[in-house]
Amino acid sequence: MNKASLIACHECDLLQSETPLVEGGTGRCQRCGVFLYRYQSVPTAHDRTLAFTLAAAILFVVANRFPIFGLWVNGTLVEATLFGAASALYADGMWPIAGLVFVTTILMPSLNILAVIYLLLPLHTGGFPHRPEIILRVLRHVAPWGMIEVLMLGMLVALVKLQHIATVVPGVAIWAFGAVMVLLAAAAATFNPRDIWARIDALQGEGGVPHALQASAAAVTAARAGLFVCHDCGLLSKPLFADTHAGVCPRCGAVLHRRKPNSLARTWAFLFAAMILYIPAILLPVMVTSTLLGTQSDTILSGVVYLWTSGSWSLATIVFIASVVVPMLKLLSLVFLAWSTQLRSPLIPHKRTRIYRVVEFVGRWSMLDIYVITILVAFVQFGSIATIDAGPGSLAFGAVVVLTMFAALSFDPRLIWDAVESESE
Ligand SMILES: [Zn+2]
Ligand SMILES: [Zn+2]
Repeated sequence: MNKASLIACHECDLLQSETPLVEGGTGRCQRCGVFLYRYQSVPTAHDRTLAFTLAAAILFVVANRFPIFGLWVNGTLVEATLFGAASALYADGMWPIAGLVFVTTILMPSLNILAVIYLLLPLHTGGFPHRPEIILRVLRHVAPWGMIEVLMLGMLVALVKLQHIATVVPGVAIWAFGAVMVLLAAAAATFNPRDIWARIDALQGEGGVPHALQASAAAVTAARAGLFVCHDCGLLSKPLFADTHAGVCPRCGAVLHRRKPNSLARTWAFLFAAMILYIPAILLPVMVTSTLLGTQSDTILSGVVYLWTSGSWSLATIVFIASVVVPMLKLLSLVFLAWSTQLRSPLIPHKRTRIYRVVEFVGRWSMLDIYVITILVAFVQFGSIATIDAGPGSLAFGAVVVLTMFAALSFDPRLIWDAVESESE
C-alpha cells in the first residue's frame, strides 16, 4: 500500500496523509481523534479474524439450536430456543417486536458472520472473493444492527425475573451466546477491510488520489478540495464536473455525496417521531401478567421498581439506565446536535463529535427490555396458572429504539465541522 496516500476523516472530513505505523497500530484523525485505520502488513492477519468468525459461526448454530434455559413448573420442564421465543410473540400478534428480535439477534448476526467468512475464506486459501465490494457494503450496513451483547444481558435479567416464579436451569444456548458475543467482538476488533480494499486496488490497478492533489491538500477538508469521499470504501475521488453534488465511487460503485443527503431534515423527522412515541413507551404497560389472582400491568418504570423491591437492585439499576436514561439522553443529545448544527454553531466541535460517538455506541442497549419481555412471554405460558403477554407500550418502546438509531445514522457529524470551517474564513 502507498504509505503516503491521502485519506479523509469520515467524521470531520479533514484531509490528512496516512502516517506510517507499527504493526497492529491504529491511526486516528488529527482533528477529531476518531479511529481511522489499523496497520497490518502481515499477510496472515486475516486468518485470526477468520478463526474467530468460524468459531462464532459454529457456536451461533449451537446457540440457536438449543434452549436458552429450562423452567421447572409443576414437575415439567418448559424449554424454549431464542427463535421459539420470537415465534411465541409472533403468535401473540406482536409481530413487530418478534420481527425486531429476529432481525437484531438472528438475521443480522448471521449475515455478519457469513459476510466475513465469504470475504476471508478465499483470502486464506490464496484466492480472492467474487465482487467483495458488494459484501463489504452489506457488512457496513448490517454491523450496527447485530445486538448479541444486549441479548446476553437481556437473558440474564430474564433469568433473575424468572427465578421469582420457578426453578430456572440455564441451558446450553446461554453459554453459547456468551461465547459468540466474545468471538464476534474479537473478530470485529481484528477485521481490517482496508487491506481488502487495497487488494482490490492492486487487482484493478486503480484507486488512490492523483499525485497532484496530495500536494495542494494541506489541512483542508475533502469537500473544500472538491473531492468525494466514499462512505463504503473510503476512497477519495475527483468528480467528473467540479460543481456536482453526487457521483459514483470509481472503486466500489457506491453513490457518492459530499454530505449525507438531507441529513438534518431526516434526523429531525426520526427524532420527532421518537419523541412522540417515547410518551406511550413510558406510560403504557409493556407487560401484562395474568394469574389466578388477577391481572397486573407493568410499565417500564414499575418493572424497575419491582426488581428494586425484590432485592435485585443492581439489575434494577441496569434496566433503569438502559430503558429510561439511555433513550432520554439519546433523544436530548440528538436534539442538541441537530439544533446546534442547524444554527451552524462553531462551538465545542470536539465535544459535540464525542457526544455523537457516545450516542451511536450506547443507543443499542435500550433494546434490553425488548429482549427481557420476549423471553418472559415465551416462558410464562402456564395456561390458567400464569401467563405473561407483551403490552402496547412495548410496541412504542421498540419503535423509539429503532427511530433513535435511524436518527443517529442519518446525522452527518461532518456538518458540525463545516460550521467551524466557515467560521475560520
Ligand atoms: Zn476527524
Ligand atoms: Zn467506494
